[in-house]
Amino acid sequence: QLAERDESVDELSRREQIFASAQERYYDRPMQIERGWRHHLVDTTARAYIDMVNNVTGLGHGHPGVADAVNRQIRILNTNSRFLYRELAEYSERLLALLPPNTELDTVLLINSGSEAVDLALRLAQAATGRKTVVSLREAYHGWTMASDAVTTSAYDNPYALENRPDWVHVADVPNQFRGTYRGENTGAAYAADLGRDLEQLAAEGREVAGFICESVLGNAGGVVLPTGYLADAYARVRAAGGLCIADEVQVGFGRMGSSFWGFEQSGVVPDIITIAKPMGNGFPIGGVITSKKIADALASQGQFFSSAGGNPLSCRVGLAVLDAMEEEGLQENARVVGDRLANGFRELATRHDIVGPVHGEGLYLGVELVRDRETMEPAKAEAAAICERMKELGVVVLTTSERSNVLKVKPPLCLTAESADYVVSALDRVLTEGW
Ligand code: PMP
Repeated sequence: QLAERDESVDELSRREQIFASAQERYYDRPMQIERGWRHHLVDTTARAYIDMVNNVTGLGHGHPGVADAVNRQIRILNTNSRFLYRELAEYSERLLALLPPNTELDTVLLINSGSEAVDLALRLAQAATGRKTVVSLREAYHGWTMASDAVTTSAYDNPYALENRPDWVHVADVPNQFRGTYRGENTGAAYAADLGRDLEQLAAEGREVAGFICESVLGNAGGVVLPTGYLADAYARVRAAGGLCIADEVQVGFGRMGSSFWGFEQSGVVPDIITIAKPMGNGFPIGGVITSKKIADALASQGQFFSSAGGNPLSCRVGLAVLDAMEEEGLQENARVVGDRLANGFRELATRHDIVGPVHGEGLYLGVELVRDRETMEPAKAEAAAICERMKELGVVVLTTSERSNVLKVKPPLCLTAESADYVVSALDRVLTEGW
């Protein structure tokens, strides 16, 4: 009877007929998800899954506070943002209050997605410096628009750009201390020195740097934390060369690190431009750029800036409801406590299962790297895919990431409970023990 009600086979062929092949989907036989509650997803056969990958829905699925905010505001007003709206100022002020004290970051521009945020950040850097060149790190994902795609360097996400990248983008080495050019946590200075050489070379070619963009923790690589001192050293070199530092916090910011609200705080730096999106609206499309007035005002040289839906009263109300819930429910602290528990659980698995290599990340942004050999770090890509399929059967949604698709990405809603975290670790233990 349950099987009869499983519409996922029909739904898959329906999707395949009307979607472009490049529109990504997960799993060989994806489940048809009908509803979500907190860190759970429920499919049309009433099976529940623990959602370990949803960093968009930071508060958890079906959050009543967000639902109420939408319901209330959409009945009152929702339109573009060119009059005065209290919600817009209130939300922007709330965002600024989340920044470390005494920074020059005093200006907010609201748009609708992470790609738009990155696009706008690049435009700001170019407008404020009067230069073109942007330095991006290898193996990064920053979005799908023309500009954010140009700085997306992951061969997995953007093979096209390997040969067709616009000449205003320079790709620098990725400081991956686990499998990069230099290994170990004390390699920050070596990687930053290489970046410094790149900057000198660019200047010698007359391509002075406008901006440097990177994630403050390497999200696309699976939550790989930067080697000690890298970001501070890199920012100093970029600034000395006259460029601006852009932190892409779309994934790693907004409380997910647990021990800090922002990813860049892990490295003790303050960026010139910050991009945010995904969790801001708990699934509702909101994106933003935070910068200084001086940098933001440079946009005027390019004419008016306006986004029809960006910063509308509805999205601001949703954004405020998200921040309220994060505070009231102590979600950043939960990310720290449950994240530590989860990471310790995964590290314990590494003592018993050879395939488990380094466990990356911080808070509830973790990555379990699966390798065939811990010395050579040969990626266990096929194994990782099969393990994800088996985890699905055990009721856990966990998926792969990184250039080599061999890292289990772990970025659940921040309301994940200790009980569910323990279940996920025990399910993974079972799969690794029984085979997949
Ligand atoms: N930056 C980073 C680091 C991202 O992970 C993403 C999305 N995966 C983006 C930007 C683009 O965000 P969006 O999908 O909202 O356009």
